[in-house]
Amino acid sequence: MHSSSRLPLPLLLLLTSLWISPLSNAQSTLPQGWVTPHPAFRIIGPLYAVGMQDLSVFLITSDEGHILINTGLQDSTRHIRNNIESLGFRLEDVRIMLTMQAHWDHTAAMAEIKEITGAEVWATPEDARVMEDGGFSDAHFGGRQTFRPVEVDRIIRQDDVITLGDLVITVHEHPGHTEGSSSYTFEVAENGRTYDVGIINMGTINGGKRIVVNPTYAGVAEDFATTYNKQKQLTVDVWVAAHNSQFDMQEKYQPGQAYDPETFVDPIGYIRAIERLESAYLEVIADELDN
Ligand SMILES: [Zn+2]
Repeated sequence: MHSSSRLPLPLLLLLTSLWISPLSNAQSTLPQGWVTPHPAFRIIGPLYAVGMQDLSVFLITSDEGHILINTGLQDSTRHIRNNIESLGFRLEDVRIMLTMQAHWDHTAAMAEIKEITGAEVWATPEDARVMEDGGFSDAHFGGRQTFRPVEVDRIIRQDDVITLGDLVITVHEHPGHTEGSSSYTFEVAENGRTYDVGIINMGTINGGKRIVVNPTYAGVAEDFATTYNKQKQLTVDVWVAAHNSQFDMQEKYQPGQAYDPETFVDPIGYIRAIERLESAYLEVIADELDN
């Protein structure tokens, strides 16, 4: 039997870098939309999309630096930088980085972008734990590192207000998809109208996750139920989510389309999307109780 102390040094080095390889090997089987670049575009006011076709990365700009929400996969930094620069902004001006859900498809480039920008990473307590151990303590995908760990500089909680320049952004804890999932809301005034904008982490249930029978984590059923209720009570005119497909980006926006603050106004679609997820949740529970 091998003990790690008897492994030659090169092999030890190889093993310590193994957290990268499961992801690299998996690249070919990843959803196409996770690896296909998408040109940057303005969603509304200071909010821009700078991510991949189906992995949302959001830039919220101010005169005193920017907020970046999510990354893509571990090699997405270059694309995010190109997208930010195509809008006339600089990656180096990102001051705060936020998560919506500490899953590797949204967080894997965060450590690298933090190094480049010196930005602070702010996260809810449970997402912070997972960010700092590289996904190891994730209730569903954990037990191994799935992305490069990143130090969290500040803990944020329900109703905290993030300010940067003239930005005023409210934090919402929406647990379930991950224990620390979170959403962000703010107002945008344009065209003599005030729009309520929501960057919403949707309560989707990853395959194999358990809700009531041998639950993936204690309290997951209550978390999802509370999140659906809280989300339905939010006033939202414009909404986006961690995956572009969740808010039908491609039906609402074609690359090159002229900016219009009305493009992503969709309060009814927002409620319907939550109701669909809530129904799916009830079906998962019914299946668990049946089997
Ligand atoms: Zn996820």
